[in-house]
Amino acid sequence: MKILVAVKRVVDYNVKVRVKADKTGVELANIKMSMNPFDEIAVEEAVRLKEAGKATEIVAVSMGPQAAQETLRTALAMGADRAVLVQTDVDLQPLAVAKLFKAVVDKEQPQLVILGKQAIDDDSSQTGQMLAALLGWSQATFASKVVIENDSCTVTREVDGGLETITLKMPSIVTTDLRLNEPRYASLPNIMKAKKKPLDTMTPDALGVDVAPRLITLKVEEPPKRQGGVKVQDVPALIDKLRNEAKVIP
Ligand code: AMP
Repeated sequence: MKILVAVKRVVDYNVKVRVKADKTGVELANIKMSMNPFDEIAVEEAVRLKEAGKATEIVAVSMGPQAAQETLRTALAMGADRAVLVQTDVDLQPLAVAKLFKAVVDKEQPQLVILGKQAIDDDSSQTGQMLAALLGWSQATFASKVVIENDSCTVTREVDGGLETITLKMPSIVTTDLRLNEPRYASLPNIMKAKKKPLDTMTPDALGVDVAPRLITLKVEEPPKRQGGVKVQDVPALIDKLRNEAKVIP
């Protein structure tokens, strides 16, 4: 079984993002970039499936600028066998990414595609669902457990009311949630070995995909600063504030 796994290069989760002075987006110059955390979980799950003898090949795929090669090398160091970069400097939106993925899936013919449940830069949580729709494949989003048996895939999903378990007929799309696994760190020898693994580069044009943005960002602003809190003397004072200032109780 071949697995395709999505890895997006995003602003590192430890970075405190700042809005650009002209409000067109967030500051990206000289900012630490890393693999989207949910995609690390996706790579880890694919590697575990290969280690368990359920998968034979893992292909890591990223769409974005040339620097995304670095992120793909991390996926290779974690255990992916080869990588594909669809290189473009266009600011990609989920629909464009899903269309590019569909083109790569058509070429690679995997049985399973694992993506993150959301990218921590745009927080869209759309790409996996759109890809499943474009391919007409079964999908299980927000996975906290994945079990592969022959040509079916049983997934436990994190839903609002608790956990839901569904069985999909493969080929399928799975998106990862936080509790699926704890991703490994790439060891130094594996980082060295990853430099020699194959990394193919292609363009949206070569795949016949129009990646022009469909949405326009009007402006990006910082959230309003939080007001400082106050300590109240006693419960009646608290109730008074909740009723008369915050107006959250009758
Ligand atoms: P989103 O729909 O933008 O929240 O992204 C959901 C998931 O889709 C991410 O966790 C990635 O697995 C995948 N994805 C989104 N954009 C890209 C990209 N440019 N390259 C590779 N994977 C991506």
